[in-house]
Amino acid sequence: MNILELKNIGKTFGGLSAVYDLSFSVGDHEILGLIGPNGAGKSTTLDMIDGSLRVSGGRVLFSGEDITHRPAYQRAKRGIGRVFQRDVLFQSFSVAENVMLGLHLQARLGLREAILPFSRNARRKTAALREKAFALLKQVSLETKADQLAANLPHGSQRALSIAIALGVDSMLLLLDEPLTGMTAEETGAMLDIIYALREQRGITVIVVEHNIRAVMEICDRVVVLDYGRKIAEGGPKDVIQDPIVVEAYLGADQYDV
Ligand code: ADP
Ligand code: MG
Repeated sequence: MNILELKNIGKTFGGLSAVYDLSFSVGDHEILGLIGPNGAGKSTTLDMIDGSLRVSGGRVLFSGEDITHRPAYQRAKRGIGRVFQRDVLFQSFSVAENVMLGLHLQARLGLREAILPFSRNARRKTAALREKAFALLKQVSLETKADQLAANLPHGSQRALSIAIALGVDSMLLLLDEPLTGMTAEETGAMLDIIYALREQRGITVIVVEHNIRAVMEICDRVVVLDYGRKIAEGGPKDVIQDPIVVEAYLGADQYDV
């Protein structure tokens, strides 16, 4: 069963085709790598999956249902979680509060209740949220840092926190945009473990945009390669990476570790 199907989707900005006639499917519980040089249309593709951007053409199916015209918050409710290329964290709030705020925003409830326990009702709700936040933090190994300020976390942990926030929508499909950028080798290993565990333990399907090709080879079941907004290859990581068309697309782009 495919959890996601993109059928001939495209996105034009003014005269520029950022994504052109793109089709691919993602199977349930799959970890799919989406790779390609800078400007290839990877983030734009994620935007069209989570509803941050409307498609210029084509269709998006999630669990067999046409969600092409559904707004982003409805897609989030259905279980599409997104981690952006840059972290969107509340720096002056604690780690746990960040997850709780995320839960509130996604549930479209009052922000105040998340951090200001006024009434008994609010206290009860806050306790339940705190519990859920802790469970989410556990999944990214941050439970011992729950009360630290987000601003004080090392970079790798901030990225992990972003994942915990995205998981708050009860994600079935998680979209990760360059989760490993700027990480140390140790942080990279820890993040790969988290991603892998989410699939193994929670059955979450993952689409990961990533420049670290070695990491992509390690965790992805399949890879889709974009270049100038078009799909130029798709298949198992080993085959794709040896594909002459893919090698050609990456030539001269020395930030890539092919
Ligand atoms: P990638 O994530 O693969 O690096 P993007 O999806 O961010 O690439 O961008 C694909 C192309 O679309 C680029 O040429 C980029 O400049 C352009 N683009 C992205 N977002 C916008 C926008 N909001 N307005 C105009 N052009 C955009
Ligand atoms: Mg991008």
